[in-house]
This record gives sequence, structure tokens and C-alpha cells, in this order.
Amino acid sequence: MTIAQVIVDVPSLGTDKVFDYAVPKKWEGMIRPGMRVAVPFGPRSIQGFVVKLNEHTDIEKIKNIIQPLDLAPVLNEELLQLGDWMAKETISYKVSVFHAMLPVAMKAKYEKIIRRTDNASLLLDKLFEGKQEVSWKEAEKRSLLPALHKEIEKGNAEVIYFVKDRARKKLKRTVELAAGKDELEDILFSLPSNAVNQAKLIRHLLDSEPGMIEAAVLAKEAGVPAAAIKALIKKGVLSEHMVEEYRDPYEHKDFERTSPLPLTKDQQAAMDPVLRSIEERSHETFLLYGVTGSGKTEVYLQAIQEVIKQGKEAIVLVPEIALTPQMVERFKGRFGSDVAVLHSRLSIGEQYDEWRKIQRKEVKVVVGARSAIFAPFENLGIIIIDEEHESSYKQEEIPRYHARDVAIKRGEYHRCPVILGSATPSLESFARAQKGVYHLLTLSKRMNDRGLPPVTVVDMREEMRSGNRSMFSSDLFEKIKDRLHKGEQTVLFLNRRGHSTFIMCRDCGYVMQCPHCDISMTYHRSSNEMKCHYCGFQTGVPAECPECGSSHIRYFGMGTQKVEEELVKLLPEARIIRMDVDTTTRKGAHERILEHFQAGKADILLGTQMIAKGLDFPNITLVGVLSADTMLHLPDFRAAEKTFQLLTQVSGRAGRHELSGEVVVQTYTPEHYSIQLAALQDYQRFYNQEMAMRKIGLYPPFYYLALVTVTHEDLMQAVAATEKISNFLKSNISEEAILLGPVASPIPKINDRYRYQCLIKYKREPNLFSAMRKVLEHYNPQASRDGLSITIDINPYNM
Ligand code: ADP
Ligand code: ZN
Ligand code: ZN
Repeated sequence: MTIAQVIVDVPSLGTDKVFDYAVPKKWEGMIRPGMRVAVPFGPRSIQGFVVKLNEHTDIEKIKNIIQPLDLAPVLNEELLQLGDWMAKETISYKVSVFHAMLPVAMKAKYEKIIRRTDNASLLLDKLFEGKQEVSWKEAEKRSLLPALHKEIEKGNAEVIYFVKDRARKKLKRTVELAAGKDELEDILFSLPSNAVNQAKLIRHLLDSEPGMIEAAVLAKEAGVPAAAIKALIKKGVLSEHMVEEYRDPYEHKDFERTSPLPLTKDQQAAMDPVLRSIEERSHETFLLYGVTGSGKTEVYLQAIQEVIKQGKEAIVLVPEIALTPQMVERFKGRFGSDVAVLHSRLSIGEQYDEWRKIQRKEVKVVVGARSAIFAPFENLGIIIIDEEHESSYKQEEIPRYHARDVAIKRGEYHRCPVILGSATPSLESFARAQKGVYHLLTLSKRMNDRGLPPVTVVDMREEMRSGNRSMFSSDLFEKIKDRLHKGEQTVLFLNRRGHSTFIMCRDCGYVMQCPHCDISMTYHRSSNEMKCHYCGFQTGVPAECPECGSSHIRYFGMGTQKVEEELVKLLPEARIIRMDVDTTTRKGAHERILEHFQAGKADILLGTQMIAKGLDFPNITLVGVLSADTMLHLPDFRAAEKTFQLLTQVSGRAGRHELSGEVVVQTYTPEHYSIQLAALQDYQRFYNQEMAMRKIGLYPPFYYLALVTVTHEDLMQAVAATEKISNFLKSNISEEAILLGPVASPIPKINDRYRYQCLIKYKREPNLFSAMRKVLEHYNPQASRDGLSITIDINPYNM
């Protein structure tokens, strides 16, 4: 007997336990590790992943697998191994790791079904209309539930859950001529005289080439209704097939094919070691450090070309919001239909179809956001992570993995190079390159020889002193007007959506806070409402101060909406387009805004960090950063690094083409090193200075971090649990490690839950991971009983 070891798809179970199920004879040899199966679990039928096949089991009364859910494994040997490793490294359960690896369409969804157990019941015959099962929904719709409840009580029927297949394929109805032309003529003559449409269709068929055609297209071409086609199918003249079709989001786009450009000396020098690594099948991690526009992407493209030539495959990761049509075009333009694209703005069906193209080896390259790192290629030749410093490569939910770590792990397995590319590498990566762990490759010049655009830092305190109270310094305002006049484009960047950041009473200082979170609420002009950006709570705008009754309530701070309003007032002739979370909720909105701007239908593009990436339009000659300080004062040890990266990136948007550009940065802290050095575009000096700060603060890359956050509706319970965990961890780490806490989290309450944390800084702690695992396993199931929730984040990114 073959026994399948199955991990059941119930993440809330909180266990990595495998359950044994017998493989029924008819599926011997067919069911393999990495496949999904439906298995009985308590009273339900649920989805599970087969992780191993065995000959024996200790279970006496073993249950059978109900049915396989896949024809071929969805997780190959490598991904199963990777799953084990990831679950250990991120202190999470394997089933959540599998979820992260597979397209959403493969996550289990259950359908509630009522099945009859008694075949003698006349009542059930009537209710079920001869069927053996009815769906719960159907029964509800037909108002059968009260009667069925009684039958269920008597044991004549039972409720079961069924795994629903969301990975449904799109099928297209097609037809094909099933009769010879002679036969067609015979049928034509014998048709009754009123069958006008059938006659018309047959005459059309007599005139056309044989072959498969979509039924709807045939009807249109012949000028007949669908009924005529159905009639001929019935007569056996046409045969009908359902043909599987891919939902291709780029179906209607024509990508102009491009050829490899002759590399510059610098590019060639960066390329050679990569080619050598591909050739020698030696796993090596390269850090390709080069300013925006220095030709990194061309290096990626040509490295991939070599990989394809050798019959191998490539993964390219790009930050989600940088996956613009332009970016896709670079890859589709070079490799055409060999490219699959994966990101979360695609529909579930589209994602699934792109994934299947990879699995069926119909493509050679995948360009995608974070989760594309799990593309089920079996012969990887290179992995590229563009903008490797981006925080979106760290998943902020379970499993909290970093795509960079996964890339390197897969690179080791496939013995292929990994390239990390950036104009502003993360401190972690650059430090590794300095140590020689990564191989540093540098592109120091911009392709167009223009150098980087000049950056002016404007001290907004000076502006205030000279009486300018507007959000635009006079310098920036003059420059915007000048661009308008010349018909050139401006990009304005503000890291904050909404209208005003907060409202405050001028008499008593009251600031409106979210009642569920320890955070002030943001005013949204379009809906005239106050919104909490953490929990989504919305409420009206108070006309008077809830504290003192004063009517002197004023808006402070600025968001993208307010800037837009102000611009319209100051420059009524300017065409302005805004891009932020609020204007891009609809599918494709992001693309449409960029296309609109690229086509020159707007003069000013105003937006949040969404616009910092991937924009590469020739007509942008001015970039304005309205407030460089927004990120600088966050309680985050990476605040300076993030500010430096963002400012450098935003500046890189200007003057990438024939027209030269410039950048204006407005700030209240012009003396801060991250603003100064970003203006000078001096990464190396920033790196040195920031490393010194990290060393003093005992932060990465000198120390690793592990963060445990406990939340509870009751403050005392949150504190008590954090204390217990913290004591347990303390007894499991060496004296070299530092444990901070328990302390309140930076935002002490979100969504009516109090948040407490403890943070561990460590270098080498062999016992820490197993201790963390114990915390997870001990506290998790218990915690949910007590209303506690615990998250463990190894190397947290946003703190
Ligand atoms: P990055 O990825 O570093 O931002 P790109 O690869 O996009 O840089 O290159 C910037 C611009 O220079 C692009 O328009 C690209 O087509 C062009 N380019 C890149 N390499 C070459 C080359 N070897 N010869 C001519 N033009 C090049
Ligand atoms: Zn007041
Ligand atoms: Zn809130």
C-alpha cells in the first residue's frame, strides 16, 4: 500500500504536522509529491499537499485520499525543499510557505454541499430532483434549507465541504467542419426552404478554408445567428470543441522587437564575470551598482540572452510599482512570447495562466514582482533582482521572507549567478560586496553622458522667514512656470496621499486621532472625510473642536490632494494628473495615468512614491520633491537610508534623454546628511556615514534583528504575554545578544489592539531559531484561544 504524507491546507491549524492517507489503487503511481489532493479531514473534505510517499504507516484506521486535484505536481522537488528551508528561516508553517509559492488560484476554497445518505426517502427525491447532492447555496436559493435541516437531523443527509477549483481554465467554443464538401452540398439541397440561416451558413462554409474556428467568429463572418451553428452541430455537419485559452493581459499590445546594443567598455567589464559564472555553472552573487540610466537593464537583457541560448531560464524581479508597461516592453521587445509577466495587478485568472506558461515550459523568462521568485522553472540560468534595495521584496505578512534570500538559495541549487542591481544598494548588500561575499560590478556613468541632473536644495525655513507660506518655494514655482511655458513636463513628488495630514484645534491643540489606532487621521477632500490609513476607519469632519468647542479647527500638513488643489489655483492653465493609492484603485488605472502623461496630455504629474520608479519619459525636465523630510523623522533605523534612496531615485527621473533636467528638493532639514549627500548623489559617502551610525546603534548590517510583536485587545494581557516570551527568549540566547523590551510598539494601538514587542539584536545565535520556533508553536494555538496574536519577524524591514 502506498501512503501519502499530506500537509493539510488549513493555515489556522498552526502546525507542520503531516497526516497519512492511503493512495487508492486506481491512483497508484499517479499521485506524486508536490501535488494537491482532496482528503477527508474531520467531517470535511479539504485540500492538502502531498509532501512524501511512504510504504508504511503507524495509523491503524487509515483514510483514503478522495481525489487528486492536479495532473502533475505543482511544487517540484526543489520547491518542496525550498519550502522546508523557508519555513525554518522565517519561523512559519509550511502550508503558508506553499501559499506564497503558488498562484492565488490554487489556494483552497471550499464549497458547502448537502449529500443524501438515504436513498429510500421520497422527500429527498423531491428536494434533490433525482440528484445525489445539492449545493448549500442552491438549497438556500430554493428555500429548501428548513426541510433539509430536518433531514440532516434525522441522518438522511449530511453537510460536506468540497474543494472548489479556482484554477479554472478559460475555454473557447470552437467548431470544425465534420463533413466533406460533397456532403455539404447534399445537405444544402435537402434543407427546408425556411432554414434560411442554415443555408447561408452552409454556403459560407463551402466557400471557406477548412479548419478550427471560434464559433462566435464564424457566426459573425457568415452573418448568421448562433442558433444556425447549433443546428449544424446537431446535424453533424460541424463538430464542436472546447479549446483552452490563455488570458493574456498583453494580448492586444504590439511590442516592437529590439536587438542587443553593442556594449560599452564598462558594460562589457560588468558582463564578463557574469558570463563566466553562467559558463562555469558556479553560483555567485553579483552586486551591479550603477546610477539610473547607466545601462544596467541592457546588461540584464544580454545576460538573459546567453542563458536562453544555453537552453536555460531566467527570473527577473522588479518592484511591483516599477512593473510599468515600459518595463514589460523592454523584455517583451527583446524576447517576445518567451516572456511571462507576473504581478498582483493581474487578475487571478491571468496570474494563473502566466504561471502555467512557466510550468509547461512555454516561456523562458519571467519578469515579475516579489512572488515571481518562486517561478517553477527547472533549469534556471540566472536570477536578477532589479532595485534590490526596495522594501517591497520583503513580504510583510506570513511567511515574512525576503526575495533576495530566496534568490540566493535558488541560485545555489541551480548553480547559477544572481545579480542584484541598484543605484543605491541596501547597506546590507553593499557591506557584503565590500567584504567580498558578493562580487561588486560598477557602472559609473550615465549612458547619455549627461551626468546626473543638478539638484538644488531649498531651505523651507528661509522661505517662511521671507514671507512665503505656500507649499511651493519661489524657486520651484518659477521653474514649474518656466516648464509650462516651454511645453516641457514636470514631476512633483510628495510621499503622502490625502489632503491634509491632520487637523488641529488652534485654541486647545486638539488633534483628531483614530479612535481605534494611536495615529492621527488624514483629511480627504474628495470624500470630505477623515480617514485612518492604518485601519480604514472613516468619519465626518468636526465643525467644532470636540474638546473645547472652539470653531478654530484648521488643516495642517499637506497631502497629494491638497497640492493638486493648490496647483489648480496657482496655475489654472496647467494640466495636472495625480497618481496615488486613491487614483489607482481601478485595474489598469496605473498604466492609464502613465500613458496619459507620456502622450503629453498633462503638464504636471503629481504623486507619491508610485511615481519614483520606472518613469522614463523624454520630456520630463523638472522634478520637484515637495517635502524631503516626511520619511526622515519616522522611528525607523532605516529612515536615513530610505530617504537617501528615494531622493536619489526621484532625481533620476529628470533629463534622461536629449533635454537636460534639474531637480529641486524642498526641506526643513537641509543640513541632514542623507539630504545633502542625495543632492550630491554621493552614495559612497552616504554609505560610510550611515555605516558609522549603524555601528554605534548596533543595527544591521552589524547585527541581525528579530522582532516579536504581541497584540491583544487588553493592554495588560499584551504586556504580560510579551514579558513571558521575552523571559523565555532571554534564557535561550547568549550574552552577546541584546534583548530590548518588552516595550510598546512604535504605533502602540492599531485596530483596537494594543501592541507590545521585544527586539533581539544578535550576531550568531545557534539557539535563537529553535527558541523562536517554540514560541510560535507554544503560543500560537494557545494565543488565539486567549485572543492574543503573535508575529515573529526575522530581519524586519519596516519597524
Ligand atoms: P539602467 O537600467 O541602469 O537605468 P538602461 O539599461 O535602461 O539603464 O540604459 C539607459 C539608456 O541607455 C536606455 O535608453 C538604453 O537603451 C540605453 N543603452 C543602454 N546600453 C546601451 C549601449 N550599450 N549602447 C547604446 N545605448 C544603450
Ligand atoms: Zn479645542
Ligand atoms: Zn485606525
